[in-house]
Amino acid sequence: MKPKIWLSSPHMGGTELSFIKEAFDSNWVAPLGPNVNGFEIDLQTYLKQDCQVAALASGTSALHLSLILLGVGVGDEVICQSKTFSASANPIVYQGATPVFVDSEKDTWNLCPEQLEVAIKDRISKGIKPKAIIAVHLYGMPYNVNAINQIGLKYEIPIIEDSAESLGSKYYDKNCGTFGDFSILSFNGNKIITTSGGGALVTKTLKDKEKAVFLATQARDNAPHYLHSHIGYNYRMSNIVAGIGRGQMRVLDSHVEKRRSNYAFYQNALNQNGYISFLEEPEHYFSNRWLSCILLKNKEMREGLRLALEKENIESRPLWKPMHQQPVFKDAPRYLNGVSDDLFDRGLCLPSGSNLTDIELDRVLTVISTYFNV
Ligand SMILES: *Cc1c(COP(=O)(O)O)cnc(C)c1O
Repeated sequence: MKPKIWLSSPHMGGTELSFIKEAFDSNWVAPLGPNVNGFEIDLQTYLKQDCQVAALASGTSALHLSLILLGVGVGDEVICQSKTFSASANPIVYQGATPVFVDSEKDTWNLCPEQLEVAIKDRISKGIKPKAIIAVHLYGMPYNVNAINQIGLKYEIPIIEDSAESLGSKYYDKNCGTFGDFSILSFNGNKIITTSGGGALVTKTLKDKEKAVFLATQARDNAPHYLHSHIGYNYRMSNIVAGIGRGQMRVLDSHVEKRRSNYAFYQNALNQNGYISFLEEPEHYFSNRWLSCILLKNKEMREGLRLALEKENIESRPLWKPMHQQPVFKDAPRYLNGVSDDLFDRGLCLPSGSNLTDIELDRVLTVISTYFNV
């Protein structure tokens, strides 16, 4: 059996261990310490905009805290892009609220502004104004920030920007992760940079960051004994994990470059194939190309190619199955236009890691070319 080629695997830069060693040497083996603060500053500096970063245990915990900070509770509704990973939607349910799923637009595969407005008007007419909108930059492609923000402003509904897959992506030269009222990042094992597991909440004000950190560290009030006037969570990032993050920040830009070059490789090689199409960057959009995604002519072809790759020990994966198709969300309200269903049927993510070698890319290409007999 040929060696496995993964969809997207961890890729260390080389300096991560020295930050971890420093943490061991100074005994900062805790959910606080110099690496946590250092990683937060590194992220703030990278994002450039006036923002505050709280390093947390995961992107999911960051989403959960943003819903809490926005006051989402039992009986509320929150709009969520249907085409996404389940972690975007689950925290809505943690709060006892109901997700309302909205379909995608063809140009970005992300939240469709038209459907979004249809959904908001309809929910309002039914007597429940949505408490927040969760928009996702899927696979690193920015959503239509201007249109979505305008709708948020018009109806006075805050935006939670799920930037878990889009660190390093830009929209009109501004970094993804800075567009929402709250934004979240993820450093899970398969993301563009990883801390093994981890995430961050990006806030507009220091006060919001402090509230998030307070809730993430068991909501301990200021007293010598343990005093609590809020329900707290154990959501802070550890100083060891943050050490990995500091090392990874040094290679983030080179990871973006390599992922984009993977995408360019596939596109150049397969553009003329006739069965395969790609999602181009609209003008002023810059995608980190976290995963290289292709669309086939139909579902049978997608599945055939996936199995052909699997036979050669190459991992590939259909695009995210939309949340409105998930059994767990079968009762959730939905506003659909067919786009995310079609993408799910025909889309495939190809191996996309920043550590892929030329030989591995050629192996992937050979299987695809053989499959199509070209
Ligand atoms: C990975 C991911 C998350 C969750 O992040 P974790 O750090 O794994 O909790 C949320 N949303 C999207 C779109 C993701 O891809």
